[in-house]
Amino acid sequence: MSADKLDICPRCDSDACYVTEVNQDINNYFCYGCGFQSNTLMREGEEITEEQMSILPELYKDLKYKDKNGQIWFPSTVNLPKQGMIFADGSTTKNWAWAAVKAVEVKEEEKHKYPIPKKEGQFYEFRMDMTTVKHFKERDFMDALSYIGVLPS
Ligand SMILES: [Zn+2]
Repeated sequence: MSADKLDICPRCDSDACYVTEVNQDINNYFCYGCGFQSNTLMREGEEITEEQMSILPELYKDLKYKDKNGQIWFPSTVNLPKQGMIFADGSTTKNWAWAAVKAVEVKEEEKHKYPIPKKEGQFYEFRMDMTTVKHFKERDFMDALSYIGVLPS
């Protein structure tokens, strides 16, 4: 059985930080209170941190948070093809919010517009419907999860 547990988030102090044990030395952290995530290995100068810094959008890098133990946290990105997605959206660290977008089923007659790359004749069954985009304050990350149906509303 997994040793998942809830802990206090060092960033927002909520008790909704979900800890998942990868192995005896490494934990993944996902805070439902503020939407940030981390990993035991995520530290300044570590390969995994550098890798994140090279692929993350500017806003994510700007929002990088170092906790009192020197562990680095970044905003999370939720991408569930059949439910929707959530990402940090904004121009500056002072002016951003979670953007939540719902996935909708692709209608039979519009399937041709959503081909799966490199899979000839195959089409996506769901697509992100950008018209459903709704913004949530940082501490309302759970509401964003409810909005796309990950958590019950
Ligand atoms: Zn938090």
